[in-house]
Amino acid sequence: MTIRTRFAPSPTGFLHVGGARTALFCWLQARANQGVFVLRIEDTDLQRSTPESVQAILDGMQWLGLDYDEGPIFQSERFGRYAEVVQQLLAADQAYHCYCSKERLQALREQQMKDGIKPRYDGKCRALDSAPEGFEPVVRFRNPQTGKVVFDDLVRGRISISNDELDDLIIARPDGSPTYNFTVVVDDLDMGITHIIRGDDHINNTPRQINIYRALGGELPVFAHVPMILGTDGARLSKRHGAVGVMQYRDDGYLAPALLNYLVRLGWSHGDQEVFSMDEMVALFDIRDVNRKASTFNTGKLDWLNQHYMKNLPAREVAAQLAWHFSDQGISTAGGPALEAVVGVQAERVKTLKEMAAQSRVFFEGYDSPDPNAARKHLRPVAAGPLQALLKNLQALEDWSPGPLHAVIDRVAAELEVGMGKVAQPLRVALTGTGVSPSIDKTLWLMGRQRSLAGIEKALKFIEARIAAQ
Ligand code: GLU
Repeated sequence: MTIRTRFAPSPTGFLHVGGARTALFCWLQARANQGVFVLRIEDTDLQRSTPESVQAILDGMQWLGLDYDEGPIFQSERFGRYAEVVQQLLAADQAYHCYCSKERLQALREQQMKDGIKPRYDGKCRALDSAPEGFEPVVRFRNPQTGKVVFDDLVRGRISISNDELDDLIIARPDGSPTYNFTVVVDDLDMGITHIIRGDDHINNTPRQINIYRALGGELPVFAHVPMILGTDGARLSKRHGAVGVMQYRDDGYLAPALLNYLVRLGWSHGDQEVFSMDEMVALFDIRDVNRKASTFNTGKLDWLNQHYMKNLPAREVAAQLAWHFSDQGISTAGGPALEAVVGVQAERVKTLKEMAAQSRVFFEGYDSPDPNAARKHLRPVAAGPLQALLKNLQALEDWSPGPLHAVIDRVAAELEVGMGKVAQPLRVALTGTGVSPSIDKTLWLMGRQRSLAGIEKALKFIEARIAAQ
């Protein structure tokens, strides 16, 4: 049997972290079993669905590398099919028209609440002889009235619900538009879905859906309801916790493999391993290993993983993403150091690519005037000697790479009989205009010959002007 999974988001907002994790689990379950992964856009709610949300979902999936074998299939293009199945159920008497007015249903509800019973449709229209005039009916599914629905959820275990707790669900509204629990079953059947992996907020829908499967004579898929993601305060993760669309994580400087690695560990584990490449995830993932307990979103751990991936992915791959951030921050990289080199030097110093780009601007653009505090402290008259000696030695240096650059600084410090700091700190401010940068040899290397020499000359002029002003 070929495993077929689907991710079925409603395009009413961003692809958020919870949705992305569901998509990842569905994708992994398919990939781990040489199966098929389907993307279905559940846009039957024409009011709330927007093209922007559809695009955000497609962009998010693409950025994360969650490729699908079939789709995107839009439910809005399948209304004809749903109408056909509604007719089929009506003809088989597995569904019926219901003419109850909103007012009647409202009064029924209130009475049931008053009586302390769970509000549900009382089945008034189940056996009508004739259709009342002047009403646009809804279509209700004729739910079995006895027995129970039992299923074995791959995450939650055995679940059993008595049919007398389920009422006759509306499957088509007065305007004929179909409802979620119905369309989802028609689609999952038509698309041959074998494994339904989704958030456990849908768990109460599943027994109703199973009854519709049975009415349609379809084979039941396997269900796996994955637990919620919580914020650090224990409440369901939401915008309030800064939870945003996955593309925001790209904008904030996270690498897709880091976010995926982070997401897979929200609920799934393999021993105490924390770092998983995509290939490892595919090799090891099994939906049955997903934990039933909710997991908590922890930005610190995501940052840690992001840094891990910045340091350990091939620099070329990281550099390609870094290029996006340079351009996003309006930094032109033409004529600057190779981005792979920047990654090699900066990865251990920052948590995100956004920070990396910001802190590397100087390697591409230099600076206008030095930071006043750093200049006051380090560009003093005593620094003129070391800077002049550096300028002379660096001008003569042929191999502009970290080893030889380091040797020059050592030599200058030794010749002038001063500590390294007396040479390196003025040089750092001369090069970057600040007192903070990667190690001085790497800083020189990344700045490049021309920009470095120009920086030292600029610092010497600054010191001259300072002396003149005294
Ligand atoms: N469209 C539903 C949602 O976004 C998911 C339906 C399902 O996975 O069955 O919550």
